[in-house]
Amino acid sequence: MEKQLAIIPQPVSIVYTEGIFSSKGLPEIKGAGEFSKEIETFKAQLLNDIEKTNLYRAEKSSHNIDTGKFINCVLSRELNAANCDANCDEYRLVIKNDGITVSASTGAGVFNALQTYRQMILSHYKDGVLTLPCAEINDYPRFAWRGLMLDCARYFYSAPFIKNLIDVMSLHRLNRFHWHLNDDQGWRLPVPEYPLLTEIGSRRLDIRLQFEHYTGGFYSEDDIRSIVEYAAARHIEVIPEIDLPGHASAVLAAYPGLGCTGGPYRVENRFGVFEDVLCAGNNEIFDLAEKVFDTLVKLFPFPYVHIGGDEVLFNRWKNCPKCQNRLKELNLNEPQQLQSRITSVLVQMLAKRNRIAIGWEEVLDDCEKFPLPKETVVMSWRGNEGGIKASRRGHSVIMTPSGDGCYLDHKQYDSPEEPGQRWAGALTAYKSYSMDPVTPEMSKEDAAHILGGQGNLWSELIYAGKIAEYMLFPRLCALSEVFWTAKENRNFDDFARRLKTHRTRLDNLGVQQYRGALK
Ligand SMILES: [Zn+2]
Repeated sequence: MEKQLAIIPQPVSIVYTEGIFSSKGLPEIKGAGEFSKEIETFKAQLLNDIEKTNLYRAEKSSHNIDTGKFINCVLSRELNAANCDANCDEYRLVIKNDGITVSASTGAGVFNALQTYRQMILSHYKDGVLTLPCAEINDYPRFAWRGLMLDCARYFYSAPFIKNLIDVMSLHRLNRFHWHLNDDQGWRLPVPEYPLLTEIGSRRLDIRLQFEHYTGGFYSEDDIRSIVEYAAARHIEVIPEIDLPGHASAVLAAYPGLGCTGGPYRVENRFGVFEDVLCAGNNEIFDLAEKVFDTLVKLFPFPYVHIGGDEVLFNRWKNCPKCQNRLKELNLNEPQQLQSRITSVLVQMLAKRNRIAIGWEEVLDDCEKFPLPKETVVMSWRGNEGGIKASRRGHSVIMTPSGDGCYLDHKQYDSPEEPGQRWAGALTAYKSYSMDPVTPEMSKEDAAHILGGQGNLWSELIYAGKIAEYMLFPRLCALSEVFWTAKENRNFDDFARRLKTHRTRLDNLGVQQYRGALK
């Protein structure tokens, strides 16, 4: 048989050895007590996969388990690569004629190994038989932060869609789900003290239709808890984002008093960057932020909270008496300096709640008077410059350069028939694969501040989850390899070869994917 497991992302090393492993049905999973949670989650994933695909349906009645063959999950304290911290992702997976052994020192490691094994099942299980070449895989990631952002404000994705996407993320060993929960076009987080945020802010008039129809929705506390728990079981952390003080139309529609002009405002049903933002001279915006953060801290256990901070227009602040008073009071010259003041207040609010703020790179701008607190993590999106600047100032950085491969709302290919932003040009899988979170301009010290990278899916042009999948794949597969695999181990032609097998896996899971040219 061809010795090609075609794993994505490419592991640190795969050595093929003599022989073949074969089981009629799937091998039984056994393991150390330490890993019982991971094994349970993995079994649930397999059942889920079975529901989604015809892959094992024929054997479903006999539980498709080969009780004579085993995959054994073993605790191995010795595994702890030099670059691993407490959250070590390292694992070893050994396939021999008589069985498969997975070893790791942590739950995350074992779970990663089981995802590699899940890939093998999704591609190598045929006619009720799993056949694998004997091999030894040793593996650990290059970056700790391997993220995906989903914009749930422009399009409201259902909770089941998000859970399904989390399972597909875990297949690619992605471990950060950045949940964009508000924007001009919708507010998705219930905040008990501010009920109108969801009552009014979660719905917008659908102007594509001749008749009056409102579109949108919000996640209940139960939805959120269950998604966070679902992700945690898959070793994925969820980072909520509430974008302040710009992209505020939905907030202002609910609470017009928080704007400079007092309105009237509406939840936007057009796309773009809008002039109306939260009033920098009104202290009530901080009351709102306190309650929003209380809610986030209650629902999201991960130490990071994203505060947005992107694309704030300053026109309203220029002409608002309250904002002008605030400028004088703080002895500032330019209205844009008010944003750095807002940012520093928000960062401190989060620090009091034991949370670390993440901001889009604009939080670096105009902050001479109110320096960006050192612990703030910066997401570089306009290009690489923001990330370079932030790392030099000592901030931790997540690289998500839009045109350099990370903005997955751009077209995959330059054709009028491809979905995607029309102004942006093509962003091919090759382009995604060619990005690197550490750019040539970065010194070794700069590079040490790079936590990793992230693919972002903005949803202005998305009107169904299946279209989101089409935009994500296979570019997210390419990015997963960028974030996981050592640079010297990456090769696009080899990735493209493996992708042929990997596409079968996505097909088996019923995941939509773009199938045209990759570059
Ligand atoms: Zn104002």
